[in-house]
Amino acid sequence: MQQFDNARKAALELRPDEPVYCFRPDVLRQDVQHFMGMFPGKTAYAVKTNGEPMVLKALSDAGVSAFDVASPAEFAAVREVAPNAELLYMHPVKAQSDIRLALETYRIRSIAVDHEDEVTKLTRIVRALDVDPTTLTVFVRLQTKGHAAYELSKKFGAPPALAVELLQRLRRTGYKVGLCFHVGSQIEDPAAYERALASADWVRNRANVKLAALDVGGGFPAEYGHDPRRKTPDVPSLETLMEQLRGNLTEWGFDDMPLVAEPGRVVVARAFSLIVRVLLRKGRRLYINDGIWASLSDSWTGKITLPARFIPDPAIRSRNGSAKNIVPFRVCGATCDSVDILSRPFWLPETVDTGDWIEIGHIGAYSLSLRTRFNGFYPDKFVEVTTPFDEGGAPESFASLETMAD
Ligand SMILES: *Cc1c(COP(=O)(O)O)cnc(C)c1O
Repeated sequence: MQQFDNARKAALELRPDEPVYCFRPDVLRQDVQHFMGMFPGKTAYAVKTNGEPMVLKALSDAGVSAFDVASPAEFAAVREVAPNAELLYMHPVKAQSDIRLALETYRIRSIAVDHEDEVTKLTRIVRALDVDPTTLTVFVRLQTKGHAAYELSKKFGAPPALAVELLQRLRRTGYKVGLCFHVGSQIEDPAAYERALASADWVRNRANVKLAALDVGGGFPAEYGHDPRRKTPDVPSLETLMEQLRGNLTEWGFDDMPLVAEPGRVVVARAFSLIVRVLLRKGRRLYINDGIWASLSDSWTGKITLPARFIPDPAIRSRNGSAKNIVPFRVCGATCDSVDILSRPFWLPETVDTGDWIEIGHIGAYSLSLRTRFNGFYPDKFVEVTTPFDEGGAPESFASLETMAD
């Protein structure tokens, strides 16, 4: 991979017409080690956040020995770069053939469920493969109610009374049992973890079984940009959140068992930025070479303001306006689809023009993992960059990808 000091140098040297991801392996290592230093248990990186081999390899080299996986392709991607890593199969709803593959080929021994039929499915395969159930830890996924930027509790999780039954049933079959939850992504309220722990405690007491582990999921917030026209978002720092979580784990008596966390976003967000090019400026509209079907998928970045840096093309000799004047531009994506228009503007110097580049920072999570090949546009060019995004001079702009109502 080509290496550059910063994205500006990469843009000016390569003059790329297609989007370029700038990978910062040192930032990735620092961020994951920072997390591991604060979390009092095992860190299992959530592969869906960004499953590029370069990411998985860098994490493994940085000391990550466990990965949260959800599909055969994710099992294979991790094994390819980290043959000895532990895989935790935490998807609560699985195909029978995938469970078989997990147990037989990948020797996965940690698995999540949230329904009795999923237990039946699992036990059928455990018996067929003659696996000793005492070698398996089955996590019951608890329903949670939180205030994350992205609520996932509507889809998965057993209500407390069902969780009690599932734990007891699993124990009777001989499995080791654990509890897990996932409070959502980019959580804004530190009490979300405490509410989940209180619920886990209730379930444990009712079930009266010995818990082999507790998995607190992901949701830890990454640092993003901030739209100066809006109220400062009240996102707690990771340090504050962790301190509170550690306190809550002790308070609720979960500090004497193996703990697992499944961070995604917080680990990988800062490790990538993205250079996009302005293909055409039409008044206050910019047509760029990426969009909602590639790295700027609204479904995940929906409430997030990303920091952005203007990289003017020096070949442009005359410009109108002042570079100090930051104004909103409507941003149209690369495909012919008429929905491929970002619903929030990018704020950029008013001098931006056809041919300029924009570096969008902190875009490592849920961006390139959500790329599609729609219309034949599939950004897949990577360079390595050594300077962290925030150290390259203050980003003067921001790319607001917010789609939801205020
Ligand atoms: C997506 C997901 C994660 C990672 O979430 P982040 O908010 O990116 O930390 C962790 N656990 C489960 C079960 C998930 O589905």
